[in-house]
Amino acid sequence: MKITDLKVWVTAPEKNGRSFVFVQIDTDEGIHGIGEATSSGGGGSIIVGNMLRFLKDSTLEQDFRESLIGENPEHVDRIWHKLYRRFTGGGGFGGFVTTMLSGIDIALWDIKGKAAGKPIYEILGGGPVWDDIEMYTHVAPGDPERAARQAHEIVSNGFKTLKTDPFMPEMRQHHRRYKQGKISPEGASLAVDTIAAIRQEVGPNIDILIDCHGNFDVPTAIAMARLLEPFNIGWFEEPVQPNSNEALRHVKESVGVPLCVGERLYTRWDFVPILKDRLAEYLMPDILWTGGITEFYKIAALAESFYVPVSPHDASGPINILAGAHTMMTVPNFYKLEMNHASLDVLNKMIDEPLKIVEGRLQLPNKPGLGVDLNRDFIEAHLDQDWK
Ligand SMILES: [Mg+2]
Repeated sequence: MKITDLKVWVTAPEKNGRSFVFVQIDTDEGIHGIGEATSSGGGGSIIVGNMLRFLKDSTLEQDFRESLIGENPEHVDRIWHKLYRRFTGGGGFGGFVTTMLSGIDIALWDIKGKAAGKPIYEILGGGPVWDDIEMYTHVAPGDPERAARQAHEIVSNGFKTLKTDPFMPEMRQHHRRYKQGKISPEGASLAVDTIAAIRQEVGPNIDILIDCHGNFDVPTAIAMARLLEPFNIGWFEEPVQPNSNEALRHVKESVGVPLCVGERLYTRWDFVPILKDRLAEYLMPDILWTGGITEFYKIAALAESFYVPVSPHDASGPINILAGAHTMMTVPNFYKLEMNHASLDVLNKMIDEPLKIVEGRLQLPNKPGLGVDLNRDFIEAHLDQDWK
């Protein structure tokens, strides 16, 4: 079997909403694979879409054609290394390059599964260790009473874990424009009131995860973790920006809550110091950002040797969730998989069969490959206006 073509779409189904990047790889045997390479906001998806399109249209025969077109799509690791190394001179060790690579990698695994006539989780590693995939979802922060009502509804739907960023109402401005990481006493009080209201509503047996989005400086992160510690929180996520493991170490050594990092760490090599230096209790790589199924599986195995659980991050589309779920089916040290249930309707519109979530658990399709196809009609009818 040989790869014959790569197709790319950047689609924006909701006004002022997220843009999603989807890919399709075609082969000379009529089997095609689909993948997703959605980036974070700020136009990242358009950039990654154009990188993929560059690969497709590049006339640098000795580069792209040697790397993808004409290759055997089942030799996934060989293609991974070729594409990863191609851009190392441009800082390709993480970020846009590994996001581009993730989309291709997932499509190759889809082809590999279809060629074998089996779901990806049956052919990855040693096969499945789980029957389905436990998920967690989000409570919108802001008003404590409304947050408690949302938490009640989520738990009523069978979820055992929920996540929120109770600092977000004030810290939203810092999220992409970080200058300093302080929060006002009023902002900190609102966070405490929000988590207190949620804990009161859901009782002691539901995991509450706190996302800080890397917004704090070290003293603020330590102070906020100490304020929320009495509510028995499941993890305190990205307390500081991901650039400094020394800042993370300072927080880790000063707080009594479990830490989680990883959505902005790329490839197995970024996770080595986190594990070796015991800087976090949980890892949450993003399968679209860190290098796809191939790379996430390796990160999970690395973490397993430290008995550290992994929990796929999600801020993207349906193929992110499915690729993460197939991978986690084979991973003993899997914790839970993130999703935003408020986006479920729009996510389902982009695939040909809706995600099957029962009592907070995703039941994977038992069809070959990922088990779904893209809804091309919908995707093409909602192309991002910057994707020409
Ligand atoms: Mg996060």
